[in-house]
Amino acid sequence: MKRIIYLLKVGESTQSILSSLKKNLEVEFNEFNLYVEILQEGIKLRYSEYDSKREQYKAPKILKRLIRKAKNNKFFRILGILEKDIYSKNYNFVFGIAKRGSYAALISSARLTENFYRDHGMMYRKRETKGEIEERILKEAIHELGHTFRLKHCRNVCVMRFSNSLTDTDKKPVKFCASCLKQLKTSIQ
Ligand SMILES: [Zn+2]
Ligand SMILES: [Zn+2]
Repeated sequence: MKRIIYLLKVGESTQSILSSLKKNLEVEFNEFNLYVEILQEGIKLRYSEYDSKREQYKAPKILKRLIRKAKNNKFFRILGILEKDIYSKNYNFVFGIAKRGSYAALISSARLTENFYRDHGMMYRKRETKGEIEERILKEAIHELGHTFRLKHCRNVCVMRFSNSLTDTDKKPVKFCASCLKQLKTSIQ
């Protein structure tokens, strides 16, 4: 059976983000025989998923919908991508969220661009290239998918390092360390 990671647009999202992510994920997951496809129809964000005081969306609520969608459609994996800022209870924000060992993950591209920090009066560095933004999205996507394959946070030079800032994301590699790679292979086979 062909094992496919489905990419799902959550709310308004630029098509080019999804197509570059599909291409990049396929390169990284090629050795595991995993395929990536973009679902034609996205899902809309719900009012109940929005916190108007924080001006952020509630990541766990959206993730719940994705888990249900994966179950109903018997998807191998589903990864939701949204451009809105998200948070989860103990954090001011999250780049992404996944439940360990579930079939769904969610990432947000909102805070993966320097523009976000400039627009919100926070410290920002230089304007980055499109390629740099795409690489950050790829890292966070692989990280969250890693959690669905039961991987935990890792302190090695590894994509499974926890990142709490753009600097953290830029510092970590796209690749899994040897130990995570071993666990991943067992989990996927
Ligand atoms: Zn994580
Ligand atoms: Zn690792």
